[in-house]
Amino acid sequence: MDLLNTLVDKGLRRELPTREEALAVLATSDDDVLDVVAAAGKVRRKWFGRRVKLNYLVNLKSGLCPEDCSYCSQRLGSKADILKYTWLKPEQASQAAAAGLAGGAKRVCLVASGRGPTDRDIDRVAGTIKAIKDENEGVEVCACLGLLSDGQAERLREAGADAYNHNLNTSEATYGDITTTHTYADRVDTVSKAHAAGLSACSGLIAGMGESDEDLVDVVFSLRELDPDSVPVNFLIPMEGTPLAAEWHLTPQRCLRILAMVRFVCPDVEVRIAGGREVHLRTMQPLALHLANSIFLGDYLTSEGQAGRTDLEMIADAGFEVEGADELTLPEHRVTAGGGCGSHGEADAGCGSHGDAGCGSHEGGGVCGTAAPAAAAPAANEARTDLVAVRRRGAGTDLAPNA
Ligand code: SF4
Repeated sequence: MDLLNTLVDKGLRRELPTREEALAVLATSDDDVLDVVAAAGKVRRKWFGRRVKLNYLVNLKSGLCPEDCSYCSQRLGSKADILKYTWLKPEQASQAAAAGLAGGAKRVCLVASGRGPTDRDIDRVAGTIKAIKDENEGVEVCACLGLLSDGQAERLREAGADAYNHNLNTSEATYGDITTTHTYADRVDTVSKAHAAGLSACSGLIAGMGESDEDLVDVVFSLRELDPDSVPVNFLIPMEGTPLAAEWHLTPQRCLRILAMVRFVCPDVEVRIAGGREVHLRTMQPLALHLANSIFLGDYLTSEGQAGRTDLEMIADAGFEVEGADELTLPEHRVTAGGGCGSHGEADAGCGSHGDAGCGSHEGGGVCGTAAPAAAAPAANEARTDLVAVRRRGAGTDLAPNA
């Protein structure tokens, strides 16, 4: 296919595709999906080899948010039966982080629900960063605390944070349809503040909220302009008790096309599969590793992921390898150009501002995607509420985390 040859050539040269080319990737048919994956996979391997970076989420403060992001189970008025708790103590957060790091993660993502941190919240998070870094030499820490006020990004940087996550989530044109309590411009401003403070910027999107292909291309092109080091791609988990609970639009093939489009537009950036991986890609997850070079290990903010061990087995079976703490994530040219945080440098997904995901696995590590076989195979875009499990273990509970 001429389109794919052109996009591979551009990706290998770090050249931006046209909007029409990005849209054409999303418009390819299911019959062509392996060709699309193979093409974008060449770009992925050029810049990231076969490495997969593992990141670990620690939800520092869960639920009870005053904002109204319609995709979020922690939003104002959410009826989702999620864990709700206030700030974890530094030692509790450090303990949760240690489990993820022992499981192979090299980055810890500290996330808190809410519009944005107070200065006292920044002090708390500074204490948590210190506790984690004191115990784990070389660990990368990303904070995701919502909208930042002037000076807060600098304070986080001084406290040892390597990165800051704040997602754009969707196109500017549709932002007002999913959230009314803050604006798209607010989000852009926070990503810019993080960048300016020398934090590695992480900003991504949520697919599956009823947006058009044009919206998806718009948000990815906007992200490319912001030049984050990492782009988390969330696939909406339509959680019961949220306004988007009925929005089951994604198929595994659609998710692969979206990841391929992001890879072509952001060829040398860390592309991370975030929430919804297990729920929407299901048994096609290994193919997605040919597109993204980063995933979350274990559970998400308010929902459960597949067992951490299953993540590791999947990576090995698919012929990839977990990125080591001493390996650079980003290509050399991005690190030396000042992007990122020194020897590492990228960011991740997180703040309650992301579409958290999960799956049907429960304590004990049931493998999602293999749970609850039906008598007849479900349709590709059927509601798979059977694969969504609210998180009941790890941070904020007495049960061991999934890692
Ligand atoms: S995404 Fe963040 S800001 Fe929005 S409702 Fe959820 S926790 Fe609050």
